[in-house]
Amino acid sequence: MLHEKLSSIYDNVLRRNPGEIEFHQAVREVLDSIGPVLGKHPEYAESKIIERICEPERQIIFRVPWMDDQGQVQINRGFRVEFNSALGPYKGGLRFHPSVYLGIVKFLGFEQIFKNSLTGLPIGGGKGGSDFDPKGRSDREVMRFCQSFMTELYRHIGEYTDVPAGDTGVGGREIGYLFGQYKRITNRYESGVITGKGLVYGGAQVRTEATGYGCVFFVDEMLKARGTSFDGKRVVVSGSGNVAVYAIEKVEQLGGLVVACSDSSGYVLDEKGIDLALLKQIKQVERGRLDTYAQRRDHATFVPGRSVWEVPGEVALPSATQNEITGDDAATMVANGLVAVGEGANMPTTPEGIKVFQEAGIAYGPGKAANAGGVATSALEMQQNASRDSWTFEFSEQRLQEIMRDIHDRCLSTADEYGMPGNYVAGANIDGFRRVADAMLALGLI
Ligand code: GLU
Repeated sequence: MLHEKLSSIYDNVLRRNPGEIEFHQAVREVLDSIGPVLGKHPEYAESKIIERICEPERQIIFRVPWMDDQGQVQINRGFRVEFNSALGPYKGGLRFHPSVYLGIVKFLGFEQIFKNSLTGLPIGGGKGGSDFDPKGRSDREVMRFCQSFMTELYRHIGEYTDVPAGDTGVGGREIGYLFGQYKRITNRYESGVITGKGLVYGGAQVRTEATGYGCVFFVDEMLKARGTSFDGKRVVVSGSGNVAVYAIEKVEQLGGLVVACSDSSGYVLDEKGIDLALLKQIKQVERGRLDTYAQRRDHATFVPGRSVWEVPGEVALPSATQNEITGDDAATMVANGLVAVGEGANMPTTPEGIKVFQEAGIAYGPGKAANAGGVATSALEMQQNASRDSWTFEFSEQRLQEIMRDIHDRCLSTADEYGMPGNYVAGANIDGFRRVADAMLALGLI
């Protein structure tokens, strides 16, 4: 049940943003947590902080025309939602996927506000992307698309304004093309305008690994808080993109055994532990599908068309996409001996799934806390760009680990403060919200 004031705010969000179901879901989850904060801070309600947070500062939608390898003209739609800049320049990734529409970009942008706040670093929240599908496209097509996308986007971004990065479908290759076109149009080598850059042109060590590594560091802290560790734990990961691959790498380094991972075609089960070198070869070098993994590794099996969450594991790291864990999946996972969940993806668990995890007393780390390592390391990349410096891998990883530990501890202490011990969802939403709200109050009605 929502607090009365919040319920009318939520109704208004539904009315003003029809059909944007993922955005509604993301707003609802935050509103569900912050009722108790309003009791302690009537000034937030008086200044209509929540109504303001739910309305993006600026939304940009644009045409992206480009030519494919057959000489055919293609038209996609580009988005950038600049959601909140109370804490710093808008910061958040670009997602290229056929499912992208305004509602997806707004859900991601909204989450990003609180995630970025949780990092404690000076970054506001934004997100963007396109319904362009890079799958099956040649490098040349991807380059032409990125150049056209940036030809509109460049006028809206800047190191002090809005700093994009990657997300699903946008990795090192796309960031390179995007930055190249920005540099060409503006005649400025403005490294801090985009993050996730390659190491030879201003990128930061550990940025590629950061979301996956950070998620595992976060879960490691949750396990430690319960007197246990990754050592010997059976782990199930969904996805096999950037987040999943580096989550698997870090789990293996910490002594856990990852037995399964997935892609949109199904999942692979490997009881001896996922062979990371083979997975990277197939997914990153060949850009292929997971059935190839089972073909090349005798004892592994590929299970087409089924959910990876039927595989028993003590730790689950959903790292594919939104709403991939249903209430039924969650019930199966709990029955199979689940101990902890760390969300590498954004909003991968449905509200029903979250309820199941919380009622079963699972250590459940929501995405805005558990996957904040990616954007935190982006902020470290901005720091290095601003000072024209570059840090070592060891130092960068150590900073990432400290940041994740700090987020974990603040989630726990905030949950305690509000009488909900162990509730990382409440801790993350409340702590993330408070910092943004205080900054907005301080900056006046803008
Ligand atoms: N797309 C990532 C996220 O969901 C990273 C964003 C960034 O580095 O700006 O947080």
